[in-house]
Amino acid sequence: MLFFILFYNLNVENFIFQSFVYVNIVCYVNGKQKDNNFLDLNMSKCKNFHGGYFFKKFVGTPKGNIVATERIVNWEKIAQSSKEWENLSIDVLKKIIQESHFPLPLDQDVKGFVIRALESHPFRMSATHWIQGRWDDAVIGLQILQKLFVNCPIYIGCDSSDSSFYKKMEKAIAPLDKVFVYRLKAKYPQELDELLYESMVRVSLPAGGKPSDVGYYVLNIEDLLAIHDAVVVGKPYLERMVFLYGNGFTVNFGLKLTMGTPLKKALEPYFSTAEEVRLLEGNALTGEVITEETLVKHETRMVTCLKEDRRRGFLFFLRPGFFVDSFSRTFASWFVPTSRKLDTNLHGEERPCIQCSYCENVCPRSLLPNLMHRYCSHEMEEEALAIGMRKCLDCKLCSYVCPSKIEKNFKAIVEKLDAENDSKQ
Ligand code: SF4
Ligand code: SF4
Repeated sequence: MLFFILFYNLNVENFIFQSFVYVNIVCYVNGKQKDNNFLDLNMSKCKNFHGGYFFKKFVGTPKGNIVATERIVNWEKIAQSSKEWENLSIDVLKKIIQESHFPLPLDQDVKGFVIRALESHPFRMSATHWIQGRWDDAVIGLQILQKLFVNCPIYIGCDSSDSSFYKKMEKAIAPLDKVFVYRLKAKYPQELDELLYESMVRVSLPAGGKPSDVGYYVLNIEDLLAIHDAVVVGKPYLERMVFLYGNGFTVNFGLKLTMGTPLKKALEPYFSTAEEVRLLEGNALTGEVITEETLVKHETRMVTCLKEDRRRGFLFFLRPGFFVDSFSRTFASWFVPTSRKLDTNLHGEERPCIQCSYCENVCPRSLLPNLMHRYCSHEMEEEALAIGMRKCLDCKLCSYVCPSKIEKNFKAIVEKLDAENDSKQ
């Protein structure tokens, strides 16, 4: 009896089991038909992990600088756009931006801008590739922003591993007032709007808040060029560069797509298989499933395509795991450099938490995902909120590293609670 109590309460069976054979984080894009998707990227608080390195394990050599050619050639020039943009009034500048359809918050009370010039995903184009020979155009983009939003500071976050880009940026912005450049580690999820804002503006956001809640707007480095093109060249904002990633695509590269195009249909020619695939807007950890109705929009930067695999592996845990991704270094793939299989299968079952604390170690918000999960699964959401659940960024690192394959959806829980509270009022 004593043995049984120990065995059950301390989860010894689970611990032994997982320690020796089972800890197989895996390519975790769910074989259970859940809505969330896991895998990829690097570990926010773990040393020696970089996005590029981590991704390469799955899909070969990044080709982030390979892009399809111009698609729209016959665009109509925006009236009043001019090379002499400095002579244009603020009202005219606003009109040009509106006509270009570039989504600047012209009617909002803007306090500042944050420019994302770093990527942790190697299949998205680096800031260096975006700018190439267009430093002057990027600076004009910054100056137009400053003219439109007087006295607003602009913070630019560069990849700390690309010191040449940082130095060029430092030199380019030297004549500009209230433009600041920072070197940040391009480690997932650093490029999230919330973390970029907090890293550079150095003010904490309210729990669950976005930079736009406090008047800050996040733009990408390529947006500076789009602003320049609208005002100086008169080119409307009609296209978006979308990066294709995952083994469901024949190649991983950047593709220019027209805004408003049905995304799924546009990407079908690039599927590597006639079998079922899962298309995600965004990365494999947090991407949302693309449906027939999903259109290309400003936020569409990347699409992940994975082969669908719903098979339930027979005695999966007994295999050495040469092709399994494992955070815990339990599988053979840790010491044998093999490529990893990336599909939508969970490759195992959800099991009880073994209190390994991996999720705590990787959480960029220093939350306690294991405890929050326990609270939420016992209908104690208020207790989970009391220990900071609202601060969750929904980066999914805690799900990715979990050896027990416990899916955590704290943001969805918070949104549900808020909706319920709103309906009661
Ligand atoms: S608790 Fe939230 S912020 Fe922390 S790792 Fe999990 S998903 Fe990311
Ligand atoms: S929930 Fe956290 S502590 Fe529990 S098994 Fe998963 S990673 Fe380990």
